[in-house]
Amino acid sequence: MDRQRRILEGHTVAVENGRIAAIEKTEEQQRQHTTAQVLDASAAIVMPGLVCSHSHLYGMLLRGATLKINPPTDFTQILQRVWWPVDEALTVNDAYASALVACVEFAKSGVTTFADTYSGPNSTVGVLDQVRKAVEEIGIRGFIAFEATERHSKDEGERGVEENLRFAKKCQANPSGKAKPLFSLHASFTVSDDLIRKVRALALEFRVPITIHTSEGMVDVHHNLENYGKRTVERLRDLNMVGPDVILAHCVNLDENEMEIIARTKTGVAHNPMSNMLNAVGVAPITKMLEKNVNIGLGNDGYIFDMFENMRATYLVHRVHHRDPNAIDAYTVLEMATINGARLYGVDSEIGSIEVGKRADLIVIRPLILPTPLNARSVVGHIINTVDGDDVEHVIVDGRPIVKNRLLQTFGEAQAQSISQTAATELWARLENATPQIDSRGR
Ligand SMILES: [Zn+2]
Repeated sequence: MDRQRRILEGHTVAVENGRIAAIEKTEEQQRQHTTAQVLDASAAIVMPGLVCSHSHLYGMLLRGATLKINPPTDFTQILQRVWWPVDEALTVNDAYASALVACVEFAKSGVTTFADTYSGPNSTVGVLDQVRKAVEEIGIRGFIAFEATERHSKDEGERGVEENLRFAKKCQANPSGKAKPLFSLHASFTVSDDLIRKVRALALEFRVPITIHTSEGMVDVHHNLENYGKRTVERLRDLNMVGPDVILAHCVNLDENEMEIIARTKTGVAHNPMSNMLNAVGVAPITKMLEKNVNIGLGNDGYIFDMFENMRATYLVHRVHHRDPNAIDAYTVLEMATINGARLYGVDSEIGSIEVGKRADLIVIRPLILPTPLNARSVVGHIINTVDGDDVEHVIVDGRPIVKNRLLQTFGEAQAQSISQTAATELWARLENATPQIDSRGR
């Protein structure tokens, strides 16, 4: 994923003090370097660690849950009947448990950097320390935020901002940690102009990236047209909530002018195709924004954590949507899940590609079943069409192997699952008691 997008065969990557020290032909490297540790990547793929540009780690706790609710019929009802009751039932311990198991799945499937926004009006103060603890224990990189919202009250919004600010200050006092601060606003239909202005100013002051859900469903569009006489991105632009440090998540329901604003202001976009399918909100106009050179990363929105699945979904959904087999190519999808994601969070000079001098965030993929030859010409096709998270053999972050031979080295996998299952069992019981409603339907 370097500037020339080179694919090299028969090479070796040397890592020293957490950074990529050399990329040379294997024989040269064997002559020139004495090595403390060798990971065999022969007949395998070595690529940059994947970047998940938009996630909600606590989404893990809802996997397979059967909620006693009246089945939602649109996106707003999905929020009102599923996610908002979940948010309210979450505890600080749930934040830790879900972040832990999510980081395990991310790490084992080759994700070395992610961006997460946590939401929980009854578990605000100190919650980001718990997410950070999980991130540091597993050893991957995370941009983490509390999602500020005013859906209950102004005060709720203030508390969310306070938690982000507290955490940003703490991280900046300890800049060597793997967890980094991010500012997050829920969505334009749950926050006032005042709150957007305030958080935007803080993000600029503290030089922290900022994210907001943007026209995921039609509710944002209607809300902004009715209340402000403008579309979502027009309102965000008027509040200065655009620019290279702003990540707009989803961007499903945009018009031509909104896409122009995003392109002109070099605002970033996090595309979440599998979540968009799950929530039945539509297909984001990604191919149009790519034509306008918008930087687009790939997220999971807390749904499927295997980024190879998310890449494959991206590759497929735009083809079927446009009925065009050339709508999007495999390499563009790969860029979204690596270097573009790094650029969204302002760290593309450090990660997102294999280049001398960059941090050594590398993954080694050895597909369990490989039906056709693996070489420089076939490798991108294999990454998009053959590889799953289970095919990731080694994962290296900052030069440290955190997954070796498909086994996590930093934390007991069974222990993480046990912590998460206990938290999920208790959360489901609380949800059952909190919403004694009508129908029952599995997700
Ligand atoms: Zn989201």
